[in-house]
Amino acid sequence: ILDKAYFIGVIEDLVVLAEEKKDYFIQLDSAIGDGDHGMNLSIGFREVNKNLEQWKTEDINTIFKNSGTALLDKVGGAAGPLYGGFFMKFGLPVKGKEEVTFDEFIEMMESGVAIIEKRGKAVVGDKTMVDTLRPAVDALRKAYKEEGLSPKDAMKKAAEVGAAGSDSTIPIIAKKGRAMRLGERAIGHRDPGSASSAAILEVFYKNMP
Ligand code: ADP
Ligand code: MG
Ligand code: MG
Repeated sequence: ILDKAYFIGVIEDLVVLAEEKKDYFIQLDSAIGDGDHGMNLSIGFREVNKNLEQWKTEDINTIFKNSGTALLDKVGGAAGPLYGGFFMKFGLPVKGKEEVTFDEFIEMMESGVAIIEKRGKAVVGDKTMVDTLRPAVDALRKAYKEEGLSPKDAMKKAAEVGAAGSDSTIPIIAKKGRAMRLGERAIGHRDPGSASSAAILEVFYKNMP
C-alpha cells in the first residue's frame, strides 16, 4: 500500500531534484537543444512547491492534477506539456483515493507515460524521454506481476531500466524534438528529457517504503 505521504514525499523530492540537477539538465540541453531544460523544470517545480502546502489536504489525484496544471501553465517548450500531462493523468486511475495498491500504482505510471506518448507521438528509439519511460513502465509491470519482485524491488528495477533507456539515447539520432534538426550531430549526446525522466523514476524508487 502506498499512502498519500509517499506521493507527497515524491513531489517534495522532485522539487529538490529540479534544483540539484538544474545545471546538469541545462548542460545536456545546451549540447543538442536550446539549453533550457534545467530552467524549465526548475521554474515548474518552484511553482509546484509554492502551492504544495495548501494542496496537502486534497486526495492523491487532485494533488497530482494541480501539480501537472502548474507545470503546464508555467513551463514552456516540450517538457511543460509532456511532464504536465504526465502529472495530470498520473492520479486519474485512483481518483478520490487516499492510498493505493501497487497494482494501482502501476496503472498510474502507465496512465502518465501513455499521455506523454500520445502528446509527443514519440516511440522508443526517437531519442526522447519515452526511451526512458516506456521500457521502465513495462519493466515495472513485468517485475511485479510476472517475476514476483516486491514493490520496492520492482520500482528499483524500473528505475534501472529507465536509466539504461536514457543511456541508449546517446549513440542515436533524434527523430523528435529539437535535436532532430541536428541529424548525425546529435550522436554522442544524451537526450536531456531522458535524463530528467530517469532521475524522476529514481525519486519514485527512493521514496518507496
Ligand atoms: P524544448 O525542447 O522545447 O526546449 P525542453 O528542453 O524542456 O523543451 O525539453 C526537451 C526534451 O523534451 C527532450 O530532451 C525530449 O526528451 C523531450 N521531447 C521533445 N519532443 C518530444 C516528443 N515529441 N515526445 C516526447 N518527448 C519529447
Ligand atoms: Mg530545451
Ligand atoms: Mg525551449
